[in-house]
Amino acid sequence: MMLTYKYLLRPNNHQSDRLAFLLEQHRIVYNHALQQRINIYKETGECIGYDTQCKHFRDIRRENPDTLRLVNASSLQRTLRRLDRTYTSFFRRLQSGEKVGFPRFKARSRFNTMEYTYGDGCKLRTSKRKYVFLYVQNVGEIRICYHRAIPEDTRINHARITRRNGRWYVSLSITLSATPVQRTPTGKPVGVDVGLRRIAALSTGELIENPRWLRNNLARLRRLQRHASRQVKGSRRQHTTYQRIARLYEKIENQRRDYLHKISQGIVKKYALIAVEDLKLTFMNRSRHLARASYDAGFGIFRRMLEYKAESAGIPLIAVSPVNTSQACSGCGRIVPKDVSVRVHQCLHCGLTLDRDVNAARNILMLALQNPPGRGGQPITWADMPSVG
Ligand SMILES: [Zn+2]
Repeated sequence: MMLTYKYLLRPNNHQSDRLAFLLEQHRIVYNHALQQRINIYKETGECIGYDTQCKHFRDIRRENPDTLRLVNASSLQRTLRRLDRTYTSFFRRLQSGEKVGFPRFKARSRFNTMEYTYGDGCKLRTSKRKYVFLYVQNVGEIRICYHRAIPEDTRINHARITRRNGRWYVSLSITLSATPVQRTPTGKPVGVDVGLRRIAALSTGELIENPRWLRNNLARLRRLQRHASRQVKGSRRQHTTYQRIARLYEKIENQRRDYLHKISQGIVKKYALIAVEDLKLTFMNRSRHLARASYDAGFGIFRRMLEYKAESAGIPLIAVSPVNTSQACSGCGRIVPKDVSVRVHQCLHCGLTLDRDVNAARNILMLALQNPPGRGGQPITWADMPSVG
């Protein structure tokens, strides 16, 4: 299983200048390589590939000992590879008739990432006094907020160094080699309706709302955005507001991710089986009219967290089709049509009255239990169904 661990870096002034310098070299190469592709296409009508560009920039690198030579070679290749991916996906999508923009030249503010093959110019080091540093070639040993240790028995594949709002981060992508121990399922199965308005509703009747501080911060964000829109375009004051917006946005993202980690962990710990809606289908059904980008982000993140946490804990997670989960009655199974705005499910046939999302969660669970996964233990029976309190 692949996971990403992200850490804040604490470079000193000299080191952050060096990081910025290296990043700028990557950006120059990216833009040059894009220009080269365009030029050659115009002249000859042919596309040049990654390999040709690699050779080309290897020579250029050799000729520039003070600039490009300082960039790690395989790291540079990864930037070329990145352009190659952007480029080929552009043509693929063009051919399939999608509306796509041509790959862009990157402005300084839009180029914030460089990648390393782990161990080649970028590596974690532990000092004698057990402090952890990130060694980066031609930058040195950078202090790192090592807030959680990388588990033993893992392989680190690559490192991604990112600049955001004036801070530097490193994301390490790791492969867990140990296969998770299958936990003997204790507790009951649960259906989870992951929502846009609230984080989730469980089939047990438990509702997990967006916390108040998160809502407050979202309201602050909207206020700031309104404020910026009334300021003189391109003015220094507007620029300052935009910086504040960017920082607040980052903070909200962090708060939300942190909160979602705790919530999803709690669910995985407590229940023996988790039923959710199939993510792809759900997105297609719902996001067209309901979604706001910021809510959407949290929605997808939470769903994926449940997925990988369940996997690493050895808990089965079943994705069911989202068709009718909110319309059907979880008491009698008949369809009770209702608009998105109706928050309470009220069945005309059997008289069941229930929160709309809890009703959906119960339906999700029932669908999942009709097709129990191939578990070694006993199949889950209807007797395991949680009662709604
Ligand atoms: Zn009913």
